[in-house]
Amino acid sequence: MHIPYDRILETITEKTAMEREQLEQRIEAKLKQLSGLISREGAAHIVANELGVKLVDQVSGKLKIGNILGGMRDVETEGKVLRVFETRTFQSERGGGQVASFVIGDESGSVRVVLWNDQAVRIKELAPGMAARIVGGYTRDRNEQVEVHLNDRSKLIINPEGAQVDARPLYERKKIRDLTEHDQQAEILATIYQVYEPRFFETCPQCGRRVRQQDAGFQCETHGAVQPEYSYVINLFLDDGSGTMRLVCFREQALRILGKAHEEFLSYRTAPESFDQVKNDLVGQIVKVVGRITRNELFDRLEMVAQLVYPNPDPKEELERLERMQ
Ligand SMILES: [Zn+2]
Repeated sequence: MHIPYDRILETITEKTAMEREQLEQRIEAKLKQLSGLISREGAAHIVANELGVKLVDQVSGKLKIGNILGGMRDVETEGKVLRVFETRTFQSERGGGQVASFVIGDESGSVRVVLWNDQAVRIKELAPGMAARIVGGYTRDRNEQVEVHLNDRSKLIINPEGAQVDARPLYERKKIRDLTEHDQQAEILATIYQVYEPRFFETCPQCGRRVRQQDAGFQCETHGAVQPEYSYVINLFLDDGSGTMRLVCFREQALRILGKAHEEFLSYRTAPESFDQVKNDLVGQIVKVVGRITRNELFDRLEMVAQLVYPNPDPKEELERLERMQ
């Protein structure tokens, strides 16, 4: 089961009197002690065990959405349908198939539910606001987000009897000035006023995680020596009249904001001067962004990590929305 590092730290500090800094020192010491034999996450698990902290209360059965983690089996959960996505078809070595997904939420959080093949047709029965119960799902980590997947033996029950359908809204539109560290997700509408050169980094072609340079090659913590691929991040500054904020756009969102394809973006690595024009075109553009707010410790300021960028928001829709907000 995969528990994100930050979540391990949170659980330990919640269940013990330990300060985060003190805890991180202890994990650091454990890492050194086991020099290179273990990941940071692994060291955190060992420290939790030494402190007698149980990181997960429950690994299957009926769970609140906020307690669902990657790598669980036989998960039962229910919530309110918040978003429904289009069905996609795909080709794989074993032939074609289809996949559909939707998002459910309860008062503890939200999660994407993925339906494969025969289950995917049921997406047509779903609409936002309905209640949905999942029985016998399994979970996966994708891009640091947990998803609940349904196989042939899993059940999707729509509007089950006695379902509670209260859910936190997915996110709110906010002014930059009003954003806080507690905004797990928020939406802003702002103008780009500064763009930095993209930064490139090597990733594992199998798991997409960052790899480390070692000797002559690159090393993935999970997959060993690999021929790396490149991923990238682009930073920009936004202004919405109430304040300014740095926006961090990784790969997919960097491509969305620029309207470029992956191959074209990679060309800026070897020919950075060709990025100048792109930069000029971006400055002054209005964007709508849904993202997570984090604190940049180095500069002691809040920034947004983009989760979904809309490069050309519809002005009519935005005006109507503004009127509704007032
Ligand atoms: Zn890997």
